[in-house]
Amino acid sequence: MKKLLIIVLLLVSISNVKSVHAQEPDWNRAGDEAVALLSEYLRIDTTNPPGNESRSAQFFARLLRREGIESQVFESAPGRANLFARLKGNGRKRALILLNHMDVVPADRQFWTIDVFSGAMRDGYLYGRGALDMKSLGAAQLMTMILLKRAGVALDRDVIFLATADEEAGGRQGAGWFVRDHPELISDAEFLLTEGGNNFVIDNRVIYYGIGATEKTPCWLRLTAKGTPGHGSVPQTNSAPSRLIRALGKLEAFQTELKVTPAVARYFRELAALQPDAESRRAYSDINAAIRDPKLASLLLSLPQNAALLRNTIQPTVVNIGSKTNVIAPIATAEIDCRLLPGENPADFVAEIKRVIDDPTIQVETILAFGATESPIDTEFHQVITDTIKAGDASARFVHGVLAGFTDSHFFRDRGIVCYGFSPFMIPASDFTGVHGNDERIPAGAYRDGIKLLYNVTRRLCASQP
Ligand SMILES: [Zn+2]
Repeated sequence: MKKLLIIVLLLVSISNVKSVHAQEPDWNRAGDEAVALLSEYLRIDTTNPPGNESRSAQFFARLLRREGIESQVFESAPGRANLFARLKGNGRKRALILLNHMDVVPADRQFWTIDVFSGAMRDGYLYGRGALDMKSLGAAQLMTMILLKRAGVALDRDVIFLATADEEAGGRQGAGWFVRDHPELISDAEFLLTEGGNNFVIDNRVIYYGIGATEKTPCWLRLTAKGTPGHGSVPQTNSAPSRLIRALGKLEAFQTELKVTPAVARYFRELAALQPDAESRRAYSDINAAIRDPKLASLLLSLPQNAALLRNTIQPTVVNIGSKTNVIAPIATAEIDCRLLPGENPADFVAEIKRVIDDPTIQVETILAFGATESPIDTEFHQVITDTIKAGDASARFVHGVLAGFTDSHFFRDRGIVCYGFSPFMIPASDFTGVHGNDERIPAGAYRDGIKLLYNVTRRLCASQP
């Protein structure tokens, strides 16, 4: 009996040793497999609208099942699916979520030189809508799950794979639906990794590695003016189209206040050393002082990307004031894409917009809005990302960008989960033209290297310490 117990203990300890020192994957094979996986994934048309993410969810479920990883697929609406899978650890630490969205934006085929959903390899690039945003990261996250499972890595943290629908339309059928309907599945999560980190690479040299910890938020508005319809030959100054145009004119002339949030100040400070001249370096290193100096302020604001981070922005994008030259329409509408800085209150902003329009007959309705939150950067996860990168690039520089756009992270930050936007792919700046554009593609080499980096980051954070 005692002998048997010793043998059992010995076997248990051997199996523990084996899993703690799990075998390093064969990176050549893993790279080939990851390329084939992404190519197949890119062939699934998940254009949103309508999305049809169920197809991708089934594709992921099949691959996971083959590896012995259970997954659950939840339909938020017909054809709109979210997939959840979990690699179990010992529960000593809280879970990591690998989050990716399966939908893509529409592509205009006439401007592409290759089939939008071919997933084809040409001159060392994998082509297809989603190659950058964000099927490549989704595929890399899936590969990480598969490789951890195959190597039998013992985990202190569970690793959750969550593939969602609808990010490109605001996430209400995807991440938003999931956190509302299945919060119990992620209630033990401490960290999350998704898109939104932008690395800056020139000629295969990484100038900096981007880690996104916060982003601006949308405050999308619809303006509606109603009035008496009539004949275009008898103008009415108070017609619906006329009042709407006046309102839009006031918004065009209105300048929102320049504001520097701490995360934006940090971002500029981190970029200061990379500026080409002394004046720019001075401006970037103290952005608060720079925006009060007219010369430096105009230098900063001349770049639209910078300007978008220093104020709440207002951009009319959809206007509908009629459809016939000689008819005054009874209703005129406009949609305005406003983006708020982290910390701003959407209700206060809408009140300001109404004050500027100064026409109580115009209805101002909020289509989409949420408050922005920020993740701290003094965390174990942040340390693991930077340590893993520094192991291969000792002089690595890190920049914490503030996205002018937004990702699904806010749904999870709202629940207290620390979320980082991080891309493991080091893609030259010249290759980024395809995001939401034409001929979207990813260099196969950068993609393969990224598989290894993401695996190493995840393993370092989640594997049991020997
Ligand atoms: Zn995306």
